[in-house]
Amino acid sequence: MIIGVPKEIKVHEYRVGMTPASVKEVTSAGHTVYIQQSAGQGIACSDQEYIDAGAVILATAEEVFAQSEMIVKVKEPLAVERAMLRPDQLLFTYLHLAPDPAQTQDLINSKAVCIAYETVTSDNGSLPLLAPMSEVAGRMSIQAGAACLEKSHGGVGLLLGGVAGVAPAKVVIIGGGVVGCNAAQMAIGLGADTTIVDNNIDTLRKVNAQFGSTIKTAYSNKYNLESLVLDADLVVGGVLIPGAAAPKLVSADMIKKMRAGSAVVDVAIDQGGCFETSKATTHSDPTYIIDDVVHYCVANMPGAVARTSAFALNNATLPYILRLAKLGYKEALLADDHLKNGLNVIHGKVTNLSVCESLNIPY
Ligand code: NAD
Repeated sequence: MIIGVPKEIKVHEYRVGMTPASVKEVTSAGHTVYIQQSAGQGIACSDQEYIDAGAVILATAEEVFAQSEMIVKVKEPLAVERAMLRPDQLLFTYLHLAPDPAQTQDLINSKAVCIAYETVTSDNGSLPLLAPMSEVAGRMSIQAGAACLEKSHGGVGLLLGGVAGVAPAKVVIIGGGVVGCNAAQMAIGLGADTTIVDNNIDTLRKVNAQFGSTIKTAYSNKYNLESLVLDADLVVGGVLIPGAAAPKLVSADMIKKMRAGSAVVDVAIDQGGCFETSKATTHSDPTYIIDDVVHYCVANMPGAVARTSAFALNNATLPYILRLAKLGYKEALLADDHLKNGLNVIHGKVTNLSVCESLNIPY
């Protein structure tokens, strides 16, 4: 198969659909990879690295789209990219169609075959192509929170791990899923006094088994949340109710009662956030202060560590890319129901129920 990788054009998107390592695997399997000139610049991968891995460099996105059977990207295609798709061409990338009627209509019009990373499923009920970004964001949340606690960012001036003779900071992580466990790993590693709160008792059991006595766990209810949040130096929000807006678990009143100079990092901000006082921020201006509590609410945290994120994403997408290239989309989708769940639009028809419901399109 001929696979094309254009340079990402969304503002502040530095990742790339395929790393040189992925290209080498794919070309070794006998496929052709066309990659747009300087597509890997944002993750510090040169054109020469791609050439050495077996790719052919093309100067423009137009050439990549025109000459490839499958397009592999990171972000949803923008209007100018959608206009380059053609009937039966395969598109494999994040799409997030539910809130995006303009993109959905263009993909319908293109008659292309569009598989979205975010709706590919797995046997254990997880979303394997979303998980790497939650791992990254979970780990970053503690770095971000640690910075928020510094005086220069409006924090009280606390070191997460304390030092000999000085107690560590108290970190409370709401949600014990992928974000929560990765945040916990970092917080524990830095020596913070760490608690995970979740409303799923099996999740708390798993957290307990994973981290043993280095972590405290608490069941998520109003009573526990209030006492833990009010006593915390840093609260990380990593809850998810799939397909729904994040529940507002920390009220504005609770924020008001937190200690001055404490911090909250709302990773769930991409689903609306789980703190009542959260509003989305960007990497160029990531924090704001309400009632003396520093808020960090960046909606695309992995973008700040584009190289790590692109490599992590590729580790997850590569097996699917190889399968789609080997079998073609028809056979690959028929052979794997989880990959089939990734199919959002095919030959002018939307095939994802949630997208149809959100956009009022017949399923
Ligand atoms: P996950 O499904 O692995 O974990 C979510 C956890 O929240 C589950 O354990 C669930 O039981 C728990 N939960 C649900 N309701 C709860 C409640 N009332 N109280 C306590 N816990 C509750 O999800 P994840 O992959 O960890 O993602 C978490 C959030 O982070 C999602 O909204 C995701 O979109 C977001 N995210 C944001 C970024 C970013 O850049 N801001 C990056 C990646 C992921």
